[in-house]
Amino acid sequence: MRSDALVLALGLLVGGAAQAVTVFTCEPEWAALTRTLLPEARVHVATHAGQDPHHVEARPALIAQLRNADLAVCTGASLEAGWLPMLQQRAGNARTREVFEAADHVELIDPQPGAIGTPWAGDVHAEGNPHLHTDPHKLLEVTHALAARLAQAVPDQRSAIEQRRVGFERQWKARIAAWETRARPLRGRSIAAQHSTFGYLWRWLGLRQTADLEPRPGMAPTPGHLQRLLDGLRRQPPMAVVVSSYQDPRPARWLAGQLGDRVPVLVLPSSPPDDAGPDALAAWFDQMLDALLKAAASSPP
Ligand SMILES: [Zn+2]
Repeated sequence: MRSDALVLALGLLVGGAAQAVTVFTCEPEWAALTRTLLPEARVHVATHAGQDPHHVEARPALIAQLRNADLAVCTGASLEAGWLPMLQQRAGNARTREVFEAADHVELIDPQPGAIGTPWAGDVHAEGNPHLHTDPHKLLEVTHALAARLAQAVPDQRSAIEQRRVGFERQWKARIAAWETRARPLRGRSIAAQHSTFGYLWRWLGLRQTADLEPRPGMAPTPGHLQRLLDGLRRQPPMAVVVSSYQDPRPARWLAGQLGDRVPVLVLPSSPPDDAGPDALAAWFDQMLDALLKAAASSPP
């Protein structure tokens, strides 16, 4: 936070300690974490799991939410590069000129140095895969950094935030251990998927993505590309074809159909549901694991 913004924030707090802090979040996972750490915050979220977080329309309602926010919490690593700068410009809010970016606090996988993402080249993630929220270990690292940032914004809540962080981390680590035990049958299995949305999830669970339905990152599947994938997939059928909740499932269904319908299509939510209570994040991981384990059990290894 810049020093003038800090002075402003402190001034606001001295002037009205009981005032709730308003947080603008780009994706539901950051809204869920913010609510966990600071339940009294007024939290807005710009997207939901049915929306593509790479492409968001700068609607007047979003501009107004950002204009009134004390803090903005997003993914970063260029995930929101296509829409957040325009939103910031239109909101004209000095407090959210600098955004808390989760990607600044973890090591990203699959960086592609030299790759340039343009509206024509698709969603190329040059800095690395920004969809880091699908790794529960990375979420822990972000929680740590976000707690510090929230405490900076609301200093009189510092000890309460710290207590909630410690409590969340304890619970979350226990959940990770249980998930890792449950997910053992997934290790080494292969899947086909569209985009790198679940790249961290695959890596965490030991799954191998052997095909990407996108001909180029961020580009919709084409018949020619799917046809080219088929040869390899017929030789080594994946345990499932996975698409995100915001993607058109038809190309995945076609591909699975060509593989003889023994391969299920899984539509996984790309984010937790917004405002689904304190366990939204955990319930989302449970849901993804349930779907993957079911697919693993029903398809031959
Ligand atoms: Zn992406």
